[in-house]
Amino acid sequence: MTDRPGEHTRAVHVPAGATPTEQPMRMPVHRATTYAFSSSQDYADVLDGVRDGYSYARIDNPTSDAFADAVATLEGGGLNPDTEVRGQAFASGMAAISTTLLALTHSGSHVVAARSIYGNTYSLLDGMLRRFGVATDFVDATDPTAVRAAIRPETRVVLTETLANPTMDVADVPALATVAHEAGAVLVVDSTFASPAVCRPLEHGADLVLHSATKYLGGHSDATGGVVVGSPELLARVRAARVDLGPCLAADEAFLLHRGLETLPLRVSRQCATALELATAVAEHPHVDRVDHPGLPTHAGHALASRLFDRDPGTGQPRYGAVVTITPRGGRTAGMDLADRLRLGTVAASLGGTHTLVGHVASTTHRQLSPAALAEAGIGESAVRVSVGLEDPADLIADVLRALDGQ
Ligand SMILES: *Cc1c(COP(=O)(O)O)cnc(C)c1O
Repeated sequence: MTDRPGEHTRAVHVPAGATPTEQPMRMPVHRATTYAFSSSQDYADVLDGVRDGYSYARIDNPTSDAFADAVATLEGGGLNPDTEVRGQAFASGMAAISTTLLALTHSGSHVVAARSIYGNTYSLLDGMLRRFGVATDFVDATDPTAVRAAIRPETRVVLTETLANPTMDVADVPALATVAHEAGAVLVVDSTFASPAVCRPLEHGADLVLHSATKYLGGHSDATGGVVVGSPELLARVRAARVDLGPCLAADEAFLLHRGLETLPLRVSRQCATALELATAVAEHPHVDRVDHPGLPTHAGHALASRLFDRDPGTGQPRYGAVVTITPRGGRTAGMDLADRLRLGTVAASLGGTHTLVGHVASTTHRQLSPAALAEAGIGESAVRVSVGLEDPADLIADVLRALDGQ
């Protein structure tokens, strides 16, 4: 019998790598699900919030927190330095949306949501949340009067998107904030299509901003995540719901999303400039019925976008987002043919990545809508959504013009 521990003990109790005292220039991926405490009292103190600390990965994770804090910095940029803005990271955009709605409502609550809202957000509100006693009215959120008319004494949340898919409706965030706050409700803005490089809704009165980080924030079509940003008080409610529900962002995904943020302004400024060039180049094409992009003076949201959206420091041009919806003349097949003829634009779900991705709207994101419902939503049956990537603008425009010419 020696004092030497057995091989299994030695295998498990391998020396822990030292935590470097030098700040790593890249956020480490903290995969640990659990953390060691110096004493039972210290563990209890962390759980009770007596001191800040990490205990368990579903509750908090340093890599995921670093990503959420970085988004909070981008969304809160330019705010009064006394106004603290916090972030919470999620496993997906829908995890961020569902957790936020569950945190802010209870049975008997009422929600007013934009009728153009993302499809899964719509089915969450219209299906599961309705079953749990949360009622939602869907209204034209570009009309703050319509939103005000839908408000009830039980309204807790007004939910809209900065830029709505696929018509690129622009939310009048300041007006909606006034309407929501008059009613004692919280204005939640899904800013996925804008990203903080285009618009920061908190600066215009929104209470919570959320994103599918899967899109522009990550930006490389290789990580799924979501994030919610807002005041510490609201974020504490969102975090409590997240801890109970469990949709935490995994550290590996957080690493990729965090890295994506470094090039967000570079990517998005370039994508917005190309999108405006593309929209302008195809707007007058004889085979095009209509082009939806807020950068075009003909778009209903042009003046609002010019007021609310960031200007490119180089050109002084506002960034109008990087999605262009092209509606060619003809029916469904004209739209599908346009999408299929593109060589640089790839038919695929999602948006906001480095590659230009396209989709025929009526057969994909809006396939549940009848022809009448499509018409009412202002969506042509041949509409094709183009999420502009980082290709050279001239190459992309030539590709779209060639496809429009039927070649
Ligand atoms: C993609 C998307 C979502 C959902 O995000 P996931 O990461 O796919 O869960 C929500 N809102 C908008 C506007 C989106 O584009």
